[in-house]
Formats: sequence, structure tokens, C-alpha cells
Amino acid sequence: MSDFVKKQLEEIWQKTLTLIADSGFFDPSVFHTWIKDSELYDIDDDFATIVVPYQINKTVIKDSLTFIQQKLSAVLEREIAAQVFSRDEIDRISLSSLAKTRNAIVFENKIKPEYTFENFIIGKSNREAQAAALSCCYYPGKFNNPLFIYGNSGLGKTHLLHAIGNYIRTNQPQAQVLYIYSEDFVTLLIESMKNKTVEEVKEKIAAVDYLLIDDIQRLTQSASQEIFFNLYNKLISDHKQIVITSDIHPNELRGIENRLISRFSSGLSVTIAAPEFETAKAILSKKIEGREDEVMIDDAVLDFLALKFSSDVRKLEGTLNELFFKAILYNPERIDLTFAKEIFREDPIMQRESSELSVKQIKKCVCDYYGLTKHQIESKSRTKNISTARQIAMYLCRKHLELPYVKIGLEFGGRDHSTALSSCEKMSKLLKENEVLHQAFLQIERKLGIG
Ligand code: ADP
Ligand code: MG
Repeated sequence: MSDFVKKQLEEIWQKTLTLIADSGFFDPSVFHTWIKDSELYDIDDDFATIVVPYQINKTVIKDSLTFIQQKLSAVLEREIAAQVFSRDEIDRISLSSLAKTRNAIVFENKIKPEYTFENFIIGKSNREAQAAALSCCYYPGKFNNPLFIYGNSGLGKTHLLHAIGNYIRTNQPQAQVLYIYSEDFVTLLIESMKNKTVEEVKEKIAAVDYLLIDDIQRLTQSASQEIFFNLYNKLISDHKQIVITSDIHPNELRGIENRLISRFSSGLSVTIAAPEFETAKAILSKKIEGREDEVMIDDAVLDFLALKFSSDVRKLEGTLNELFFKAILYNPERIDLTFAKEIFREDPIMQRESSELSVKQIKKCVCDYYGLTKHQIESKSRTKNISTARQIAMYLCRKHLELPYVKIGLEFGGRDHSTALSSCEKMSKLLKENEVLHQAFLQIERKLGIG
């Protein structure tokens, strides 16, 4: 770093420190002991790196980082985010070598060839998400930008991101695709802040044609959000396609700035719900394709698994693998229902959190069972899986809490009294007619400790 730049950094920081001291925000003794000896190590378009002598100074400064950022922004006359490191941390890093390896790891091809559109089973619960993902491949950056896919864990969001990546690699080999897990993004930026390679990293990301960013709910670090925000705007204005996944609805994201959240909602948001029984069964059949030689598995076992574990496809797959593994171990002639039930004895009944059953518990239990979020169950969505879950929850509130219909309506997205009444009546009738649904209902009751 040239002396000139050093001097400039010193000047900026002196002005900032004066503002901080004059503000009276810190007790003077705190300021002198913990803040004064800090240093502005580096600065670029979006963020500043502050270095402090010891870890303890870092703790104090980090606690008041928003305030310090404000003062620094005031001096610079532009918004800036800041990151703090102890001297020790900065020294420990051998500059470019680490950055290069780290960057190389993040930018290398992370797309998993096994997750494709071909082996993604489509059902009502995920049809919209699958179609939207595919449309990004046909019309990148045009209509659904960003595409925001949200839904509970284990329902195929990551699978769809990789499917996009694979599709592009095959059909548009010249296009650059970057799949990145949000936490890796944060680590990458923190490392590059330390190594002063942020500009390089930003340039690389800004050059991609498709940015596939997984589990955005983990992007809670403020400096990273700032950088992401700028990259996001650049990519969108260059008509590059962005696809984001999250395990919660954009409006429920916590620790993420509102300006980002509102941008996420500006493209297309689609939800992915737990698969219906038929879809869950089709997924299982797909997953055992090619394994028939290992051991025979009865159709009734697939029914059993699909019914019992369909709220999470990852778990569904895991149970199937466990069955195959145990079959190798115990060597049964075939995997039949008795064998499967032996392996997966009933879950212990979920203990009720308190002796008093509440609407909240009912909602949570039904959401967990169907792999939905609270937002979905309270929404106006008419997707079958979501509306069935909602009706079950409403019916449970009526049956076990004897809530008036007006209250039930209010609890479930502000519906009116007559809608709540007809939902409960419809569910009561359906439970008598539909055995699969009835079994699901009994399981939910058991989990609530009322079955
Ligand atoms: P998420 O990212 O939503 O937590 P994943 O995409 O990691 O979930 O999916 C978990 C597992 O379930 C993966 O092995 C994935 O292949 C499988 N899976 C989920 N949905 C489907 C589907 N519709 N068809 C085939 N496999 C699926
Ligand atoms: Mg995932």
C-alpha cells in the first residue's frame, strides 16, 4: 500500500474517531481503552476493514458496529459496511496464497451431476417450482428474475438449483454458471476482505450468466449483504439470471436487510411443498431404479414409507437407504412390510410442550408433518397439499380446542366464519372417505399427544 493511501486511511479514521468520541455514545473510558487504538486497514467501494489490537477490542467494537458504520459513512458521505479483525487475525493470513486457494475452491464447479430435471419427480407440490426453474433456462434474465424458491428443508430446492446448472452446462456450454451456498459466500467474502481480494471476487461473480444461490436465509452477515446487494443489482441490470432458495418465505427472513428482501420479491417467488402421497411414492420408485438386483422391495413398503416420511424427501430417501443397508445386513428374502416396520418402529409420541394444547402447537405440528411453513398454512394458497394441511389444522382446532369458527378463521389468514365452518365440515367428511388422509390425521393427533 502506498504511503499516500495509508495517509488517507489515517485521515478518514481520525475524523471518524473524532465523531465517535464527540457523540458521547461511548463512555470516555471505554472509548480510550477499547476504541481509540483501532485502525482503518483498508477500504473499497462497499466496505471497510477495521483492525484492532486484541480480540477484546473486537468484541466491544462489534457490539456497536452499526453505530461505527454510520459515523464512517458520514465521513465518507456514502453508505459503507465494516468488518473488524484483530491484529492477530490479519497477520495470520499469508495474503494472496490463501485467497487464491479459497477463491478457487468456491469458484470451482460445484454442480452435482446427479441432480437433474430428468430425475426430478413432478407432482402438485413442486410443479410450479420445477416449471419456473426450467423457464429460467429457456428465458434467462427475462421474466422470473430473480426466481425465489422457498419451502421446508428436504423438499428439492437444492436439487432444482443443480438441475438448472446441469441443464445450462449441457445446452449452453459457453454460459457461466455459479452455484454457491450462502455460507460459503460469506466465508469467501470475509476471507477476501482479509486478503484484499474483494474486487477480484466481485468481478468474478459479476461476470457469471447464472448465479444460483442456495439457502439465502444464512446470509445474515451485514458486510456480505452489502456486497451481495451491489452484485445483485449489477447482475439484474445486466439481465443475468439469479435463482435463490430459502427455507422460509422472503417476508419471514430474519437478519436480512429489507432492501434485499423487497428485491427478492420483485421477481417470481414460488413455493415447494411436501410431496403428496403419489409423488412421494414416485420419488421412491425413481430412487430404487437400478437397485432392484440388490434386493426385492414390496410395493406395500413404498406405500408405508411414502405415507410416513413424505414431509421430507431427504428423510424419505434416507429411510430407503437404511432399509437397503439393513437388508444387506440381515439378508431377508425380500423387504416386506413386517421387515420395514421392524426397522422403523413408530416414532416416540411427541410430548406435548405443555399440558395445554394450543393453536400454535397444532399449526406447528401440521406444518412439520406436511413440510410447510407457518406462512404457507396461513396463506390463501389453494395448492392441494397446503389447503389440505390448513383444513386439517382448522379441524383440529375445532375438535380439540372447541374454538369458535370466527376465531379459527382469524387464526388461518383472516378467513371469515363461514369459510372456517365449511373447511372443518369438508375435512370431517373427507376423513371418513379417504383412508390415506385419515391415517395422516391420526399420526398428527398422536404427535400432538391426543391420539
Ligand atoms: P432442499 O434443498 O429443499 O433441502 P434437496 O434438494 O437437498 O432439498 O432434496 C433432498 C433430497 O430429496 C435430494 O436427494 C433430492 O434429490 C431429493 N428430492 C427432493 N425432491 C425430489 C423430487 N421431486 N424428485 C426426486 N428427488 C427429489
Ligand atoms: Mg438445500
